[in-house]
Amino acid sequence: MDFKLSPEEEAFRDEVRAFLDENLPPDGERGPEFGAEWNRKVREKRWVGFSWPEEVGGGGGSLMEQVILKDEMAKRKAPSLGSCFMGLAWVGPSLIEYGTEAQKQRFVPDILDGKYQWCTGYSEPGSGSDLASLQCKCTRDGDEYVVNGQKIWTSIAMWSKWMILLVRTDTTGAAKHDGITCLLVEMDSPGLEVRPIKNMSGSSMFAEVFFTDVRVPVENRLGEEGQGWQVTISALAHERSGIAEFHGLMRNLDRLKDLAKRSMKNGRPASEDPGLRRRLVRAETKVEAMRLNGMRFLTKQLKGEKLSSETSINKLHRALLEIELGEIALEIQGSAAPLWQGAAPVADDGHWQRFALGWPEVVIGGGTPNIQKNIIAERILGLPKD
Ligand SMILES: Cc1cc2nc3c(=O)[nH]c(=O)nc-3n(C[C@H](O)[C@H](O)[C@H](O)COP(=O)(O)OP(=O)(O)OC[C@H]3O[C@@H](n4cnc5c(N)ncnc54)[C@H](O)[C@@H]3O)c2cc1C
Repeated sequence: MDFKLSPEEEAFRDEVRAFLDENLPPDGERGPEFGAEWNRKVREKRWVGFSWPEEVGGGGGSLMEQVILKDEMAKRKAPSLGSCFMGLAWVGPSLIEYGTEAQKQRFVPDILDGKYQWCTGYSEPGSGSDLASLQCKCTRDGDEYVVNGQKIWTSIAMWSKWMILLVRTDTTGAAKHDGITCLLVEMDSPGLEVRPIKNMSGSSMFAEVFFTDVRVPVENRLGEEGQGWQVTISALAHERSGIAEFHGLMRNLDRLKDLAKRSMKNGRPASEDPGLRRRLVRAETKVEAMRLNGMRFLTKQLKGEKLSSETSINKLHRALLEIELGEIALEIQGSAAPLWQGAAPVADDGHWQRFALGWPEVVIGGGTPNIQKNIIAERILGLPKD
């Protein structure tokens, strides 16, 4: 690994630092309107979708420049880039790889501008880990597809304008993977019904989605008919790729250390408790291991090689760490841990209680730890399946 910056990369890093000096107020001085203003400014610099090609409105930045940008922003605790999470994370990259020219022109600029949200319709009641067994049925009728079936656990379906959807176009059973097709569906299509599901923290962030004779124009198919599995594999690789997760974990760890300093345990600051200190140091060591793993992946990418199964290592690592950080946060709060937002002894307005109950999103969403272990065992370590 050699990450010495070239003169051009150093100049870019200085440009980012100058932009942050000029435009980013300290953490505590950012008002409620700041998020939207920040998005606009970062977008103007073409730093949203920075690595995407310039012809679709991206920044045309190199991989190393993208790393510099994210690194500098994370150090200054800047809000995340862009406001269309799934659009930026995997719908946009999939459109760039598989979309027609018309689809790229229609959707990519709106994703970069954060005009509306996208949701992801992959999982079904009987198909999660074994996604290729999905049954949502789709038949062709002239210039339209007709969709019937159900999706579940669809995050932010109730606030999204569009969905990236996987359907089964070949129902003969002959082609499990090759019978899947990817469609882009408007959420207000007639026959599409969203029913929110409550999660264990009491809020609703995902939903069941039902399709009854929903008509989708053929021009909204992403990739060829039967190519949906490849589109999805590429999309999930985008979801699991890179070192982005490290920054989020580091930020949470910093906040936890701060909480430990502010909280009391056995008559002294919790940060002085030897048991807790050991847990925090162990967590920090694991986060650092994750960063170094991310650097290994980056080295591979800089040499022009594609990432594949190895992204499962950090996905697994992050899942276990998120659970651990939540447990540490509750330990620091002692007898206030089982209380909820609004109760007087609860720290940070219940942020840590919500955090501790929010682990399914990062642990189960995008593939469970068991599935990541299977991938690591079979594809990286070459262990036999049985
Ligand atoms: C907060 C949250 C948000 C989500 N958002 C979305 C979304 O936006 N869109 C979407 O499409 N889906 C979403 N999901 C669904 C998620 O992708 C699935 O829940 C996940 O893939 C697991 O599938 P499943 O729930 O059917 O569990 P199952 O596949 O039934 O798994 C149940 C248990 O069996 C284990 N298991 C299954 N197969 C194997 C195997 N071969 N080897 C070893 N162990 C195995 C699993 O690890 C797990 O512990 C979300 C889930 C959550 C929790």
